[in-house]
Amino acid sequence: MSVKIPLKPVPVLNFISGKFKAGSGKIQQVHSPHNGSVIGDLHHSNSDDVALAVQEAAAAQKKWAALPIKERSKVFFELRHILMRDLHEIANLKSSESGKTYQEGKAGLLKGIEVLEFATAIQNLDVGGRTEVSRGVSCEYRREPLGVVASITPFNFPAMVPFWTIPNALMLGNSLIWKPSEKTPLTSMRIAEAMLEAGLPEGVLQIVQGGQEASEALIDHPDVAAISFVGSTPVARKVYERGTALGKRVLALGGAKNHIVLLPDANPDLAGVGISDSFTGCAGQRCMAAAVLLAVGDVDLHIQKIIARAKSLELGKDMGAIISSQQIKFLNQQIHQAVQEGAKIILDGRNAKPPFDCINGNWVGPTILDGVSPDQEIAKLELFGPVLCIIRCNDISEAMKIENSSRMGNACSVFTSSGALAEKVISLASTGMVGVNVGVPVPREPYSFGGVGDSKFGHGDITGISSLDFWSNLKKVTVKWDQQQDSNWMS
Ligand code: NAD
Repeated sequence: MSVKIPLKPVPVLNFISGKFKAGSGKIQQVHSPHNGSVIGDLHHSNSDDVALAVQEAAAAQKKWAALPIKERSKVFFELRHILMRDLHEIANLKSSESGKTYQEGKAGLLKGIEVLEFATAIQNLDVGGRTEVSRGVSCEYRREPLGVVASITPFNFPAMVPFWTIPNALMLGNSLIWKPSEKTPLTSMRIAEAMLEAGLPEGVLQIVQGGQEASEALIDHPDVAAISFVGSTPVARKVYERGTALGKRVLALGGAKNHIVLLPDANPDLAGVGISDSFTGCAGQRCMAAAVLLAVGDVDLHIQKIIARAKSLELGKDMGAIISSQQIKFLNQQIHQAVQEGAKIILDGRNAKPPFDCINGNWVGPTILDGVSPDQEIAKLELFGPVLCIIRCNDISEAMKIENSSRMGNACSVFTSSGALAEKVISLASTGMVGVNVGVPVPREPYSFGGVGDSKFGHGDITGISSLDFWSNLKKVTVKWDQQQDSNWMS
């Protein structure tokens, strides 16, 4: 199914206390990566817009937090129903602005819905605990919201990444200000409508549109208690440093450079499909995409299968577009430089034919470079495009030494038929997520998502149980009603 691009631009507005309202800053055009057409006019927000969103969110949060968790959860059961009902329309919208294929847009939304399902289960998971710690004295945990919190999200998953944070934060009684990426902001308005329809009280979810200025105003606002960020490493580091310098709780996920270790005993068909789909899926614009193939020993048959699979992909149908023309220039320059330095191009996507009617879009086909050396820039820098670099290695130790030298720590996978060798790679990998015969080792709920190193600043993971600790405080309550005869040091 092909993506339908909106025919005329829509105004992209803030969502404040249940109403759409233009931000006071500059207006910027939003282009569809598929064909370059203007699909939105984004009104940026300034610090006054952010202050209004925070003020009204703070008022709404008190009433929202006073509701029993079982009542809050009803909104999210209803939201799930609405998102499933409107799956096709929302998947199409997010694909049109991010460059994804329709199937990728749908898959991202379904993954977001899976996190929403986790949030609806918090009412049953998070029972806390109460224990009689000495005669007549009990201790208990109460999980309390932080107040107003913020989520700043990247362009590449306009619904899935926001769903990593919004449902869990709201279920725990916070109100949240979401700042979507200025490159893919249209989906946020559609999600806001779905939230309203589901019965979320006004002000509990606020959206401020914009870029750096809006993000910084949110981070700096004294009434924003915690900031979740997902984006590139340089910005993640800045956001983490800025927020923590103000004494705030910050979890900032950054970029990635994911390695795949390919061993000669791997199933060639499994490896061919898994590795090709990993570096070409979402046109390489996902933080879990394979970037470097550590080819150990004779794996030429496997590499031929990867090439064959990648060659068979039709742009527009099986593989989406790249977010911007600047990003295409960057990819071309990196490929050119790598070839100049001695890498051999064995699949060249630079002149790939764009789909019919998309000549003004941003397209590049799958590209594979062989004989890349570990110290070349292309082997270390995050590219965020459908480019796979092959580094030839003599053994697993050499491969893992290269993997371990990366400052990024998102994901690593191994393709092998041996449990013992898989275990060796799992234990030596320097990343937060590891896969065995899986090209995109995204943990599914309830397993949490998060890397280490320069792929994540802050403690804990963004989803799963540790997200509950991020979005709440544990109050420890110790209670006694009567003086006890046999008192101890505590009584
Ligand atoms: P980006 O860092 O350019 O932007 C991310 C967000 O930060 C946007 O909302 C943007 O408006 C805002 N922003 C930009 N400059 C800022 C500044 N100086 N201060 C505060 N906020 C600022 O990232 P992107 O290009 O939108 O997304 C792609 C990147 O995100 C890739 O590096 C990718 O690996 C990463 N990513 C990581 C994960 C993960 O789980 N680790 C998931 C998805 C994407």
